[in-house]
Amino acid sequence: MYSDVVVRGMTSEYSSMDHRLLQQASFWEFLFSVDEDLAATARRAGCGCGGRLDRADFPRKPRGGPGDLPEEYGYRRSFCCHREGCRKRVTPPSVRFLGRRVYLHTVIILVAAMQQGATPRRVRELSELFGADRRTIARWQVFWQEQFPRTAFWKVARGFLLPLVDAAALPLELLRRFLHCRDPDPLEGWKRLLWFLSPITITGGLKS
Ligand SMILES: [Zn+2]
Repeated sequence: MYSDVVVRGMTSEYSSMDHRLLQQASFWEFLFSVDEDLAATARRAGCGCGGRLDRADFPRKPRGGPGDLPEEYGYRRSFCCHREGCRKRVTPPSVRFLGRRVYLHTVIILVAAMQQGATPRRVRELSELFGADRRTIARWQVFWQEQFPRTAFWKVARGFLLPLVDAAALPLELLRRFLHCRDPDPLEGWKRLLWFLSPITITGGLKS
């Protein structure tokens, strides 16, 4: 999908959030393994009623990833209490999926960040790279700058990022804080960022 299209005009800062990482199956396998850990933790905790949690995954058809996205991306882990009369559903937080949105969370962050201050030509290139039309990319921008800053999550979480992050700089500033000038391994930076944001990926996680 985004084979050899080159995003022109990349500054050294942008190259630290290299979109080519997203072409590698190993990146997506890594994120899957993080999600498996999050799911195992949720399953061990069990249902609030004390019941055992059985698997009840949601089928997914994520967009924005490479053609060889691992087949584990065809579902999102979810559980259901086995107790008759309870049957409560428990969906663990995820570093891959942002709620019910079809595009992968990493893509929604990275493309919105790369789009900040971008020329129309750049936006066309991003649209080609990730298979998202311009309206979709514009909606992600609205999400990060208007919806996300109003969430209860962000009102608390922003206090952990000092100096305070200005909403107008989202999500680019998040990438700067988590990926830039830190660990030379971008996988770890992405893991930290997606883990940090994972509370917004569950039902009700975007409540203001
Ligand atoms: Zn239960």
